[in-house]
Amino acid sequence: MYLEKLELKQFRNYVETKLIFSPKINILIGENAQGKTNLLEAIYVLATARSHRTANDRELIEFKQESAALRGTLVRQTGKTKMELILSRKGKKAKLNFLEQAKLSQYIGQMNVILFAPEDLALVKGAPAVRRRFIDMEFGQIDAHYLYNLTQYRTILKQRNHYLKQLQLKQTADYMLLDVLSDQLAAFGAEIIAKRIVFLTGLEKYAQKLQEQITHTKEKLQFRYETSVAAAAQKSVEDLYSALKLLYKTNRKKEIIQGTTLYGPHRDDVLFLINQKNVHVYGSQGQQRTTALALKLAEIDLMKEETGEYPILLLDDVLSELDGSRQTQLLRTIQDKVQTFLTTPSISEITRKLIKDPEVFRIKHGE
Ligand code: ATP
Ligand code: MG
Repeated sequence: MYLEKLELKQFRNYVETKLIFSPKINILIGENAQGKTNLLEAIYVLATARSHRTANDRELIEFKQESAALRGTLVRQTGKTKMELILSRKGKKAKLNFLEQAKLSQYIGQMNVILFAPEDLALVKGAPAVRRRFIDMEFGQIDAHYLYNLTQYRTILKQRNHYLKQLQLKQTADYMLLDVLSDQLAAFGAEIIAKRIVFLTGLEKYAQKLQEQITHTKEKLQFRYETSVAAAAQKSVEDLYSALKLLYKTNRKKEIIQGTTLYGPHRDDVLFLINQKNVHVYGSQGQQRTTALALKLAEIDLMKEETGEYPILLLDDVLSELDGSRQTQLLRTIQDKVQTFLTTPSISEITRKLIKDPEVFRIKHGE
């Protein structure tokens, strides 16, 4: 799929702009604070109805204005779709082919985007919660059942933690309800763990190939799912369920003393390994960046496998952080396959040599 046209009104520092894009590579070039990231953000917002940078829509509206409008034409194998999103103090309105959508969930998912920004390094370096959020967001986009299980799990987890607190404070001594909640939590938890392992294995397969291409070495990249359930990867959903139930049973005292649920997918993590060594601990800056990049690019392939179309790729200030050979390999990987938007303060020699007829947009003061 690709974005053919984009029209912005009063979005960030864009007062009024109309753009026509290349289905291949689009380069957004400009000095600092001119509106390069704002333009990538606009594409992201048009696709997902929310920003990757802020939860506050007010920030997206031009300082002096009350509302912002984003309009785009999306081209897919099946035809064109006109997308429109209006942001105002009262909330947001979304239209597909001029028809207002009652639910945002009907609007989101038409246009798939993958964004890679410098902050994504946190995927490798950051806390486990960052990686859990990443896998939940990504797997939720491609599997509605996963999202359902996750929502149920979170609800029951809250109830169970609340009940553990009551037991801790001796407001009750009734263990019946705790057993019921443990049982339900284990059931949804087992589904979540099983799916995460399946999807991670799929991502790993693609990421390994990309890592080799980008680094030009035989560096072996591996993803390892870390969970309190022993040998989880070898277990069926039923076995995972029994294992979680057993964990809750044998650690009941400990959980009551701490007043919280200590086991389950909300405590799990993903480790990234290069040649069996943890990238977080031993990896160089460049290796960490390449790993995060390989992970993001692997999503492109996984999405294509699951939805039948390549998503749109947004790369914010990524090239300047990579060395020459990594830039070359990255550009080769995306060339001709995926519509890409990349921002940069200046076009490098490599980009000039490698990208055939890119569409170049020079950005200054939101124009
Ligand atoms: P860099 O190379 O430093 O990353 P950039 O071109 O990506 O720069 P952006 O983040 O796209 O820069 O744009 C930042 C500019 O947009 C800032 O000057 C900021 O003041 C302006 N800006 C941000 N939000 C709004 C808004 N709601 N209304 C008007 N201008 C805004
Ligand atoms: Mg920027």
